[in-house]
Amino acid sequence: MPRTIEATEAIRETGWRETSADLDAAIGGTPLILLRGPSELTGCRIYGKAEFMNPGGSVKDRAAAAIIEAAERDGSLKPGGTIVEGTAGNTGIGLTLVGNARGYKCVIVMPETQSREKIEFLRMIGADLRLVPAKPFKDPGNYVHVSRRLAEETGAVWANQFDNLANREGHRRTTAAELWRQTNGRLDAFTCACGTGGTLAGVALGLRDLAERDGKATPRIVLADPEGSALYSWVKTGELQMEGTSITEGIGQSRVPGNLEGIPIDDAERIPDPEALQQVFDLLIREGLSIGGSAGLNVAAAIRVARAMGPGHTIATILCDGGARYQSKLFNPDFLRERNLPTPPWLD
Ligand code: PMP
Repeated sequence: MPRTIEATEAIRETGWRETSADLDAAIGGTPLILLRGPSELTGCRIYGKAEFMNPGGSVKDRAAAAIIEAAERDGSLKPGGTIVEGTAGNTGIGLTLVGNARGYKCVIVMPETQSREKIEFLRMIGADLRLVPAKPFKDPGNYVHVSRRLAEETGAVWANQFDNLANREGHRRTTAAELWRQTNGRLDAFTCACGTGGTLAGVALGLRDLAERDGKATPRIVLADPEGSALYSWVKTGELQMEGTSITEGIGQSRVPGNLEGIPIDDAERIPDPEALQQVFDLLIREGLSIGGSAGLNVAAAIRVARAMGPGHTIATILCDGGARYQSKLFNPDFLRERNLPTPPWLD
């Protein structure tokens, strides 16, 4: 049976998706789209990887498939087994879909503050969903700790996406390789936000290896961080310091996840919500790209990096998921106005 990594390699070789016995062949191999407005604005070529096109609608399908494959390989996940995970939603969606395709049950622990659309979609696809109050990581009631305890108590497999290096390894082998091939090995910088760090770390490691293999300069790796996250200050000064808040979901951290440890990061940009939202709205209405808040933040960071590097550079980023997942928040003028955030002009 084809597995994600092999399937993605097959797409690379043939340019089209193989006939497959399961969902895996539909994960990855996403288009890299030239973002016209940001490119014209900066004189650079700014590309967004269309991860909203994955079957579960987000970049996290890749991590979910890689984590399940690794657990099958090491024997911890047995036929008919159960996977437990704490997630902002997208990893839960990926795990549940891949689990459905392969006969595993999924118990998903999620903070109740996440978008209604993700919660309803998880229920729709058959996840055993446990909503918990949003708590900081140091609190034992935090969703990550609840999921770990639940897995321990029930003897299920804990996906542990933050520290499970199968997550970044999946991105190293697929996302990074696709980006390098899609830019013909001419990539000057990559910007990406961090939830677990799997995408940023895997792409950073993969691009470094591929650039070295081809005798090219290693692309500059820049963390895109929302307000309220400690990673910006960690990259800049080595200290974890949090400041402000953000309505973006799935990104920002108060600690350094295992997937991010030891990863070469050249710089960081801290992007306030209005700047990220501007990209969400502009890309939708001018270029037909419906994206979520973290994708808008990634594009905003790519624009800043393009301006700093100067015209003529090629920069890639990740369009992590789609706008429909946040209809009740990012596209809800009442929600936005209550927070003094810009609203989409065509909805006002
Ligand atoms: N954007 C969204 C919408 C997400 O759900 C996530 C995952 N939590 C990310 C970005 C971050 O991806 P990663 O976990 O690979 O850092």
